[in-house]
Amino acid sequence: MLTIQDQLQETATQLFSKEFGQLSKNEMYITVATLTQNLAAKEIENTSVLTKKQDAKQLYYFSMEFLMGRLLINNLQNMNIFDEIDEVLEPYGVSIKDIEFEEGDAGLGNGGLGRLAACFMDSIASLNYPGHGITLRYRHGFFKQTFVDNKQVELPDLWLNNRNVWENKISDDATTVSFYGNLHKAEDGSYSLTDTVDVLAMPYDMPIVGASHTANRLRMYDVLPLENQKNFDTYEKDIMDIVSCLYPDDSTTKGKELRLKQQYLFVSAGLQNILKEHLATHQTLDNLADHVVMQINDTHPTLLIPELMCVLIDQHGYNFKDAFALTSKCIAYTNHTILAEALETWDAKMLQNLLPRVYQMIEDINNMFLESLKPYNYTKEQVEKMAIIAKKKVHMANLAIVGSFSVNGVAALHTKILVEKEMKIWADHYPTKFNNKTNGITQRRWFHYANPDLSSLVKSHSDDRLMEKPIEWFKAFEQQLDNEKVLQQLMDIKATNKTKLSSYIQKHEGISINQDAILDIQIKRLHAYKRQLLNVFHIIYLYQRLLNDETFKENFHPQTFIFGAKAAPSYVLAKNTIQLIRTMADIINADERVADKLQVIMVTNYNVSYAEKLIPAADISEQISTAGFEASGTGNMKFMMNGALTLGTMDGANVEIHELVGDDNIEIFGLLKDDVFAIHASDYKVKDDIKDDETITFILDYIKELKDFQPILDYFEKENDYYLVVKDFKAYVKAQEHLNALYKDQQAWTKKALINIARSGYFSSDRTIEDYVNDIWKLEKLVD
Ligand SMILES: *Cc1c(COP(=O)(O)O)cnc(C)c1O
Repeated sequence: MLTIQDQLQETATQLFSKEFGQLSKNEMYITVATLTQNLAAKEIENTSVLTKKQDAKQLYYFSMEFLMGRLLINNLQNMNIFDEIDEVLEPYGVSIKDIEFEEGDAGLGNGGLGRLAACFMDSIASLNYPGHGITLRYRHGFFKQTFVDNKQVELPDLWLNNRNVWENKISDDATTVSFYGNLHKAEDGSYSLTDTVDVLAMPYDMPIVGASHTANRLRMYDVLPLENQKNFDTYEKDIMDIVSCLYPDDSTTKGKELRLKQQYLFVSAGLQNILKEHLATHQTLDNLADHVVMQINDTHPTLLIPELMCVLIDQHGYNFKDAFALTSKCIAYTNHTILAEALETWDAKMLQNLLPRVYQMIEDINNMFLESLKPYNYTKEQVEKMAIIAKKKVHMANLAIVGSFSVNGVAALHTKILVEKEMKIWADHYPTKFNNKTNGITQRRWFHYANPDLSSLVKSHSDDRLMEKPIEWFKAFEQQLDNEKVLQQLMDIKATNKTKLSSYIQKHEGISINQDAILDIQIKRLHAYKRQLLNVFHIIYLYQRLLNDETFKENFHPQTFIFGAKAAPSYVLAKNTIQLIRTMADIINADERVADKLQVIMVTNYNVSYAEKLIPAADISEQISTAGFEASGTGNMKFMMNGALTLGTMDGANVEIHELVGDDNIEIFGLLKDDVFAIHASDYKVKDDIKDDETITFILDYIKELKDFQPILDYFEKENDYYLVVKDFKAYVKAQEHLNALYKDQQAWTKKALINIARSGYFSSDRTIEDYVNDIWKLEKLVD
């Protein structure tokens, strides 16, 4: 058995024909990561041996997005070899922390939905369940953000330019996926297609190394050309587009046909690989549901339902009824959308043209379903609302609900809104299908890795035997609530994290943060419903107040506002909001009169790596969406775990945070979801509110004076402030003032932070995954 040191040298020789000490930083990273990858490969092998031996049921998590971030330290820590490797590096004068930034930040996702998938992968493996991710291998990830004249500019994310050490091309599992073509019916009633455009779907696997002995796979599909295709040059160009980029807007569907091709590609290829593996050991598909469960993350992979039906009927001789029964036993659907009108639909003609057989199957499912509704006496409107195909559109959520055995929302309030309002008709029709699975985050990345000092402190007051029970493990820390020494340590850790963040921001943004200030952070996608605008409105107000009110200024504890957000390239209002934040930052940071009181920073290219730096330093976590619009949020959970106080509306998982910590340890403000729904149903005119409100009038005039911000002004005039910034403004100002005053009592504040940390274990994705396993997936742990 070679020592780690020898293995490192051997890897360096194989890769670069050099002594380890002679390598560049990037080569060192590649060498360490390759060695880690080789060790992970052994764990993957072990996991698949155990899976076969136990004949264990396997989960496949289909998601268009996996926002993984960097993997080196995550993998080393999960494999428990971080310290060992770091020691081996020491004689060369480097540490893992020096080389970790050589790795690209894998941005195969837009935000929360993709990050959730990544956290789930970590928890599934760490809990020793056999569960794999399936997605696309986009050549360009989520765009890289820069600013020119304070405006967002998008650059391509060329994450594959540096060697992607983690992936392995699995040529043996490459499969053909067909688009277009003509349908033919055979005598036995099955269908086939001719004249299709075929592509080769090539899987690349990345190891997902758990903190225990299990390592699963994230399978990413690339597209390659096949040689027997007509007009090869245009064909090749066309098909390469399929995996060229991730769509930078997860809330609307654009580049329509291409996005549909993406969806079908990974669904069809993923399914072929799953069935091939199942048939190799079981010879029949009749028992598929005992061995395979497929979770679809939002509706993007819903074609899985008709596709599995097609395979069962056309290739395995199933009749329609049996095929449907089997399909709907294997597939479960997670809903991430609140508003019914925001659910994904496809133009029926386009779907039929691109995927003739799949479309026909959707029609058959729809006909069967509509037939099954007949005994229920639904009205015509109700039937139309539930139909899978209606008004020349295919309604993917309806298809997902009909064709799956479980539909879950992602936070208690979200599920409640689905069941009682937006999907009430469905929940009444299928009363046992609907369930809630409140989201979670992996504490291994978002606590132990991102905040090592805090992790050590909690560790020293908890019981390591509870490591696998995060709720209890975190909870044990609450016994230190009156321990002055621990409270002081908590303050020191927060201060150190602020210093570290300050030098990081100094390096990347050219500005350092006021160490004494309250650090108030809002980091998330830029969207009107998330209301970054409410935050900037308050900042403009605060700035004027500080300039004009000496007493207020004296009593005001310095506060630094940090934003991080990308706006979809075509989202005009969002981009204009970024420009306003950056413009206000320039004005305020240059104004000597408020220099020691107020600071505003919008960081560049917010991503997972940046989040890992920002969150441990935060005092205030801004979660201020219009109530009823944020399905769950997961950023709110990360902040809570790291000891920030939530300033939030009663929305998404904020409601559950509030329930856990109680009124005194969170700052809740603003309209409730029922208020919001009532206003939207009334003839509310924001104009009237603005007219009667000096402060709002001042802020809008101020923005008008700055020029350049017509889209924001239009939002108030033409969209009637749909997300209710004006209606919630006063309450938000009051909440901000309350927090600012509270912060002066450092001891009291720190106690609140401690309670937040100690009660955050509920939001570990380990808890979420155990809930999925118990209620939906029914997996068994792999026993080493
Ligand atoms: C957690 C996370 C998100 C989700 O943030 P929300 O506040 O829940 O919207 C988005 N982007 C990144 C990089 C994240 O880490």
